[in-house]
Amino acid sequence: MHIFTGQVACEGVVIGSSLNVSTEHQQSFAEDNNSAETLSDAIDVSKIQLQKLIDSKKKIEGEILEFQISLLEDSEFLEPIFNRLELNESGPLAWSNILDDLIEEYDTEEDSYFRARAEDLKDLKLRVLHNLNGVGFSEILKIADNQVNSSEQIIITKDLTPSQFIETNWENCSGIVLINNSPNSHVAILAKSRGIPMLTGADIDLNQISSNATVILDCIKGDFIIEPDQETIGRYNNIIAKYRDKKDYEKTLLEKPAITEDGVTIQVQLNMDDLLNSPELPPEHCDGIGLTRTEFIFTRGYLPNEEEQFQYYAKLIQWAKGKPVTFRTMDAGGDKTIPELTPKHEVNPFLGLRGVRLSLANEQVFRTQLRALARASSLGEVKIMIPMVTENFEIQAVRKLLKDEVAKLLDRGIEAKIPQLGMMVEVPIAALQIENFDADFYSIGSNDLIQYLTSASRDNPAVVNLYHAEYPALWKLIAAVASHGNAVGREVSVCGNIAGDTKYTSKLLAAGIRSLSVTATSIAPVKAAVRRARSILN
Ligand code: PEP
Ligand code: MG
Repeated sequence: MHIFTGQVACEGVVIGSSLNVSTEHQQSFAEDNNSAETLSDAIDVSKIQLQKLIDSKKKIEGEILEFQISLLEDSEFLEPIFNRLELNESGPLAWSNILDDLIEEYDTEEDSYFRARAEDLKDLKLRVLHNLNGVGFSEILKIADNQVNSSEQIIITKDLTPSQFIETNWENCSGIVLINNSPNSHVAILAKSRGIPMLTGADIDLNQISSNATVILDCIKGDFIIEPDQETIGRYNNIIAKYRDKKDYEKTLLEKPAITEDGVTIQVQLNMDDLLNSPELPPEHCDGIGLTRTEFIFTRGYLPNEEEQFQYYAKLIQWAKGKPVTFRTMDAGGDKTIPELTPKHEVNPFLGLRGVRLSLANEQVFRTQLRALARASSLGEVKIMIPMVTENFEIQAVRKLLKDEVAKLLDRGIEAKIPQLGMMVEVPIAALQIENFDADFYSIGSNDLIQYLTSASRDNPAVVNLYHAEYPALWKLIAAVASHGNAVGREVSVCGNIAGDTKYTSKLLAAGIRSLSVTATSIAPVKAAVRRARSILN
């Protein structure tokens, strides 16, 4: 039996089998997305995959796939795509733009045969995009997963990027152990939103871990136990049973409002990270959506157009049944790279073109998102939130673009609205002089605020001892922002990880916070913690 330690990124306790996805399986994503060679490779790989599928399918499906191969061999079809590369457009963007035009053409055909071909083209578009981005983690998992086939699979790997996490099917996985990374990184946030127990910064040599061993992942204590003895397994069976009882009790609070012991109602909203799927809980379990990380729909190898974005936003508004939905405009940069937008080899990406800075530097892409959001705003109670605001002019610039796009939409007879425009408070200078910002509401992004206040990166296990929420100066700042919001009658919520960490619930309420936005798995524990807390500390 060996016990390794790490930091808990997502809580839970499981017993299962190890699956070592060691680095030799990991092929990095194609770095150079702009070259004709990379695009040709992706097309060739797609052809091979399609041919394999044809060989394994029935005749009728084979005919459909042959249509896709014939397109990939059609030089007239491919020529304009490669021409766009010569004009410096990225491979994914050039491919998507041409395919989108063609899909639209087929979609509007009267003949149902051609309309059905639009669906094949959508498939083909995604296949090549996927191959353009290199081998995904899902495939890497399949390569490694040739012996283990348990539903209690615990994956041990060096690291994961947020986009690798998003594109992976985690159905057979009940826990993840990462050698790198930290609990406040975006990949940890994604694991939390799916409720997959995750340990980061684990002190393990991957070469010494075999697959198929019995393991215990204790993401309460931060332990990863390999080949536990019978006594330890027995002890953990008890721990797991007690943990389940606690979770079952908390679930009974989901439908109830969060009211403190002294009778103050606290808003508990949901953080939404994966727009591709609707939340797994009903809207009655929360007070709306306090943060939607829209950037994750941009990390899949192409930039979704206005209509595609509008459909994602509309679906979420429909789910919310009249409750408020806060969409954060894309917060790309830092550890969330979008090959078509984020600068390559930026010296210090968390301090560079990130959030609203990147959006304003790519005005056309940003205008497209604002149009989709403005259209969605006419469907329900929508709020737009701007990430990484440093100076008030950034809010003014976004407001102007939004107004401009709404006016143009209305001129074209398309329904649109200017919703409330709020800001993330996550850059220290903004928090320190919050009265200078003309935002309709504020949401404190404690994940970044802590990173920038401490100069300790949120995703680096080497400085994890410095990255924490125990600094009195952090709480003074949170209280000052809450007090300003109170004075001017504007909502102040907290949407960083401390909002979902019940260790801090009392402290947040004492600092004057009355609205929390948390991942789906934190709603029940936070409601339970609010019921135990008072709104004012004695
Ligand atoms: C934050 O910084 O606290 C936040 C909520 O945003 P993100 O974690 O996506 O940077
Ligand atoms: Mg942030």
